[in-house]
Amino acid sequence: MEKKRLGLALRVLIGLAIGVVVGIIVYSLPSGTLKDKILIDGLFQLIGQVFLRGIMMCVVPLVFVSLVNGAASMGDIKKLGRIGGKTIAFYLATTAIALVIGLVIANVINPGIGLDMGAIETVEVTEREGTSLVQILYEMIPRNPIQALAEGNMLQIIVFAILTGIALTSIGEKGKRVLALFEELNELVMRLVSMVMTIAPIGVFGLVARTFAQTGVAALVPLAKCVLAVYIALALHAILVYGGLLKGLTGLSPVRFYKKFYPAMAVAFSTASSSATLPVTMDLTQNRIGASKEIAAFALPLGATINMDGTAIYQGVAAVFIAQVYGIDLTIGMMATIVLSATLASIGTAGVPGAGSIMLTMVLQTVGLPLEGLGLILGIDRIFDMGRTAMNITGDAVCTTIISKQEGEFDEEIWNSDFDSKEIA
Ligand code: ASP
Repeated sequence: MEKKRLGLALRVLIGLAIGVVVGIIVYSLPSGTLKDKILIDGLFQLIGQVFLRGIMMCVVPLVFVSLVNGAASMGDIKKLGRIGGKTIAFYLATTAIALVIGLVIANVINPGIGLDMGAIETVEVTEREGTSLVQILYEMIPRNPIQALAEGNMLQIIVFAILTGIALTSIGEKGKRVLALFEELNELVMRLVSMVMTIAPIGVFGLVARTFAQTGVAALVPLAKCVLAVYIALALHAILVYGGLLKGLTGLSPVRFYKKFYPAMAVAFSTASSSATLPVTMDLTQNRIGASKEIAAFALPLGATINMDGTAIYQGVAAVFIAQVYGIDLTIGMMATIVLSATLASIGTAGVPGAGSIMLTMVLQTVGLPLEGLGLILGIDRIFDMGRTAMNITGDAVCTTIISKQEGEFDEEIWNSDFDSKEIA
C-alpha cells in the first residue's frame, strides 16, 4: 500500500510539472478561442473541477465518520484516567499553538502576495465578517445535526461527531455494533477518497495548467514561499515549543532529545506516515529516551492518530496562502475559526500520507475560502507532507517524555546512556 501511495505522490508531482509547462506554453499563446475557450475554460477547467468536486464530495462523510472514530478512540483512553486526560489536553494544546505559529509565520512571509487569482477567476467567497468570537463558539453547537451535514457546516459537524464518538464508547457493550459500523464506514469513505485520488494527477494537471496559463511563471515564486513558510514554522515549533516544554517542564536537554530521536524523524520524513513510523517512534521513545513503557504504549498510538502539529502548521499556512492569492483579508475571527476547526480536525486526520491535505479542504470550507486554490499546493503536497509528518511524531514523543517524567516513570539511566536503541522486534 505504501508503495502505491508513493507512486501516487510521484504521479501527482509529474501531473503538476506537466501542468506548469503546458500552462506556461498556453500562456504564451495569443488570446483567442483555442486558448481561452477550448483550453483554459474548457479542458483544464473540466478536469480540474471534476477532481475538486470529487474531493468535496468526500469531505462531509469523511469528517463525520473519521471524527466519530477518532473521538471513540479517545473515549477508551479516558478510562485510563488522569494521564489519559493530560495526554489529550497536551495534544490539543500543542496543536492549537502550532496553528498560531503557522498563521503568524504565513502573515509575516505573505506567500500568496504577488499572485492574484482573484483577478482572473471568479470564485465564491462566503463572507464571514461581522461574526464575533462568542457567536462562533455557540454556533458550533448544531440546532439540527442533519441540517449541519446537509449544509456542510464543518464546525457543527465536528462537534456533533466528537460528541457521538464519546457517547458511543461510553455506552460500552450496547454500542459495539454501531461502533463497528462506523469503523466499516471509515473503510468505505477512505476507499472513496482513494478512488478520487486516483485521478489526482490529471486533476492537479488541469488546475495547475489553468493557473499557469493565466499567470505565466509568476505562480512559481509564491509556491516556493509557501514551502519556505511551512518549514520555518515547523522549525520554530520544534525549537521553541517542544524545546521549551521539554526544558521548562522536565529540565531535559532538547538537544539530547533530538539527538536520540532524529532517526524516527527521518523515517517519518521519508514515509510521510505517522502510523508507518509508529514502531520506530515507540522503540526510540522507550529504549533511547527512557519514557515509561506503559505511557508510551497508549500515548504514542493515540498521538499517531489524533496529534498532528505539523499538519496544523501546514493547514494554517495553506489557509493564509489561499486567502492571499484570492485577495481575501482574513479577519481575526476567521483566523480563530481556523485554529479551532483545524485543531479539532486533527483528531480525525489519519496518520497516512496526504491525509492532512484532504482535511485542509474542511478547514477552508469552514472559513469560506475557495477550494480552487488547492490545485497549486496539492501538486507539491509530498514536500509539505514529509516535514509535517516528522513534526507530528515528534510531538507525540515529546508529550510521552514529559508525562513520563512528571509521573516519575522516566528511566534516567536510559536517557543518560549513549548506547544505541535495542530494536523492538
Ligand atoms: N502524513 C501525515 C501523517 O501521517 C498526515 C498528513 O497528511 O498531514 O502524520
